Amino acid sequence: MYDVRSLKAEEFINDEEILDTLAYAEANKNNRELIEEILEKAAPKKTGKGVECAGLSHREASVLLACDIPELNEKMYSLAREIKEAFYGNRIVMFAPLYLSNYCVNQCVYCPYHIQNKEIPRKKLTQEEVRNEVIALQDMGHKRLAIESGEDPVNNPIEYILECIKTIYSIKHKNGEIRRVNVNIAATTVENYRKLHDAGIGTYILFQETYHKESYEKLHPAGPKHNYAYHTEAMDRAMEGGIDDVGLGVLFGLDKYKYEFAGLLMHAEHLEAVHGVGPHTISVPRIKRAADIDPNVFDNSIDDDIFAKIIACIRIAVPYTGMIISTRENEECRDRVLGLGVSQISGGSRTSVGGYAGYSAEERPHDTEQFDVSDQRSLDEVVKWLIDTGHIPSFCTACYREGRTGDRFMSLCKVGQIQNCCHPNALMTLQEFLEDYASPETKAAGEALIAREINKVTNPKVLERAIQNLKDIKNGKRDFRF
Ligand code: SAM
Repeated sequence: MYDVRSLKAEEFINDEEILDTLAYAEANKNNRELIEEILEKAAPKKTGKGVECAGLSHREASVLLACDIPELNEKMYSLAREIKEAFYGNRIVMFAPLYLSNYCVNQCVYCPYHIQNKEIPRKKLTQEEVRNEVIALQDMGHKRLAIESGEDPVNNPIEYILECIKTIYSIKHKNGEIRRVNVNIAATTVENYRKLHDAGIGTYILFQETYHKESYEKLHPAGPKHNYAYHTEAMDRAMEGGIDDVGLGVLFGLDKYKYEFAGLLMHAEHLEAVHGVGPHTISVPRIKRAADIDPNVFDNSIDDDIFAKIIACIRIAVPYTGMIISTRENEECRDRVLGLGVSQISGGSRTSVGGYAGYSAEERPHDTEQFDVSDQRSLDEVVKWLIDTGHIPSFCTACYREGRTGDRFMSLCKVGQIQNCCHPNALMTLQEFLEDYASPETKAAGEALIAREINKVTNPKVLERAIQNLKDIKNGKRDFRF
């Protein structure tokens, strides 16, 4: 039976409830009155405290996803843009993945790191190699990483992951430093989540891959990841272990997208109902070609139009949740979805173990790559492109360092303080990037952007301080934040 508060996977991600939801959405896909009502409910409203959005239930959002009326679909896209603008403005947070190890005991059929792949060289970074990778990432200008690893209790035990995190945070190369390490490792125990929390991680990210239990079990035929309940209940254990920023995701292409979409939102509702805080981020990866993986084998792949609609519907349904898109997507697709709700993107990414140090911006090793990277531009090129398309690339990590995680972050969003907090933080961290890492063209474009954008800070005291901080950054000082 469906129970949003249950701690049992099959009750909070309930198959029957999802099937009922999909039938309801299908029956109402041309119900103009209902769809307009749902769009009205989701629209930003001015309150005494600022702008607020009600969000949508998985049922309401599924109706939007199914909507078959062209002009209401257009209205939906405009609403997604409006919500994005209200809470995230034109800021886009930058990050890069860092692959630590591709040793893995699982058999995920879509991933080249699966244990039966004897062709792929297995590699695990030593602490010296972690150091070199981090220096290479710092020299590009990154401040925020997502560490990635296969699941292997012998080769990559939690102690190894913790040691790597410690190494990453310890490296201060020139003006560089990694200020936030997000972690994408396999589902683990409450005790291990507590250790990750104590190591000062940012978000714990775990993709569900698919919410469809039967498919899940087929796609993960053996290994610890085979256990659907253990995997699906991981975020509850992470929160019990003290991590209050968690990141959900589905690997689109594995099962039917409407099923995944409803499951994803039910998972978000469950976290909110049980822990009082929804997911910090949602990722929307699509399956890519990789060493022994042919994406065409998976017959649930979605085209760019459906992909954009999913992103718009997520933005409307969970307005305060960040949305992440990686370099799995090409420039054109990334350009399209940035306006619809994506708030974080990776840049200059390498998806191989040891892919950064010793390689130029054009060179990339393929032997241990997890998947083909579609957007192969350097970080400087991505930053310049964002500036040219009207966005503010942000290297901000302030919230988590100021303790604004979980519901404390959400309340910042809700009272509309973002313009006096995230906005100047984005500009100050961009200024650091321009001083230390940018090409002359990017620097010129960035300086012009900052000059235009700084006046959008509405609080006079914050504005004055931000202007002073920008001057200080030009004079060599670093790491200011509100
Ligand atoms: N090993 C960890 C786990 O089991 O959750 C997470 C790390 S894995 C490096 C990160 C994610 O990459 C996976 O959760 C999966 O969704 C995604 N991935 C795996 N194979 C992929 C492929 N061929 N194309 C795109 N994404 C893929």
